[in-house]
Amino acid sequence: LTPMKIAIVTGANRGLGKEVARQLAGRGYRVVLTSRSDAGRAVADSFRQGGLDVDFHPLDVADANSIANLTEYLRKQYGTIDVVVNNAGIHYDTFQNTMTADFDIVEEAWRVNTLGPWRVSQALYPLIRKGGGGRIVNVSSSSGSFVESWPGTPAYAITKAALNMLTMKLAADLEKDGILVNSVCPGWVRTDMGGPDGTRSVSEGAESILWAATLPDDGPSGGFFKDGEPVSW
Ligand code: NDP
Repeated sequence: LTPMKIAIVTGANRGLGKEVARQLAGRGYRVVLTSRSDAGRAVADSFRQGGLDVDFHPLDVADANSIANLTEYLRKQYGTIDVVVNNAGIHYDTFQNTMTADFDIVEEAWRVNTLGPWRVSQALYPLIRKGGGGRIVNVSSSSGSFVESWPGTPAYAITKAALNMLTMKLAADLEKDGILVNSVCPGWVRTDMGGPDGTRSVSEGAESILWAATLPDDGPSGGFFKDGEPVSW
């Protein structure tokens, strides 16, 4: 009997996080769906009614106390976890550039997009399976690429580029534990953030994320990938 794998997804009350939670549960993972508001609880309830194995716990990735509460819950409830998907993201700031940027927005983007995955990874590290099987997926964006830059979205692009470097640092530090850490770009996806003109459905966007979450033990670590292929950044 294979032991059940436990996956944590942040920002999973809507958009890509919700779909990643659904797809991981569909593949037999016990998913802990998290959200900063209570909205995720109703989503988890509806997934359970559909026969999926989904738990819920609140998590605001910008709040260290909230992260500590989740960690304590997971430690008591599960002890060991397998997969962490740092999906929560904010402020695709097309409405500003570096010269007009509102620093309240910039600072919140750092707290959610970069420091959030860092704090969550650090807090959950003691619980993540060592010696094979452990995975951390950071949901990034091609906006954070030196290669693909365009005017606007300064807070978003800068915090996602930093997230890619966080991925490299985490991967190097956790290599000894056999934990694979990768960044992925889901493409331009029709969510609240991506808007209605996105070229991909939520289900298609979730595929890149699922790929990194379910890599075999000899898979890559420390990279930035789209559709399972390395992307320059
Ligand atoms: P949405 O705006 O649809 O969803 C964002 C999610 O993040 C929501 O669940 C939101 O919760 C959550 N969130 C925001 N702040 C916090 C916080 N402090 N703590 C916990 N959760 C938080 O975006 P997408 O689903 O499109 O985006 C998911 C990820 O994919 C993001 O990291 C995004 O940057 C990335 N991405 C998306 C692309 C796209 O085209 N859509 C392209 C490239 C990358 P709440 O409902 O409470 O606001």
